[in-house]
Amino acid sequence: MQEYRHVLFATDLSPKAAEVGRHAQGLAARYGARLSFVHVIEEVNVSAGYELMPLLPEMPDEALTRESKAALARLAAELGLPEAVQTVLTSVSTKAGILDTAAELGVDLIVVGSHGRHGLALLLGSTADAVLHGARCDVLAVRLPD
Ligand code: AMP
Repeated sequence: MQEYRHVLFATDLSPKAAEVGRHAQGLAARYGARLSFVHVIEEVNVSAGYELMPLLPEMPDEALTRESKAALARLAAELGLPEAVQTVLTSVSTKAGILDTAAELGVDLIVVGSHGRHGLALLLGSTADAVLHGARCDVLAVRLPD
């Protein structure tokens, strides 16, 4: 039977995130594995608004990154893991951001929710499906109630 040593919890920081996180935490505890966190900020092409940038007091994505880091830290603390590795990165694709982080950390299990912010269009939302098909390790999609 597979013994997991390092679990990566990919979170959209949505209201259901802690529920998925508790599954990841429980699994990691059961295997005595490390648990790391990743949140991907999806890059949006805003080139049409660049002429306004000198007027902005601060790059909006800097504020978003700061807020995301704070939200991820709160989530890790809520799960009792304030010292866990917490990665916030910007990527053109959530899938790529999660898979790159998984490869970088050398995790052997990725935990995602069956759906998140993108709703219940499918049982496996776009991110869960994409991660499942692209990952080089096991993936657990935690089924969330509708
Ligand atoms: P979705 O495909 O958006 O319905 O999300 C399904 C699951 O993918 C969520 O429950 C999270 O576990 C994960 N996920 C979605 N968006 C992100 C994100 N921006 N960063 C990290 N994980 C995410």
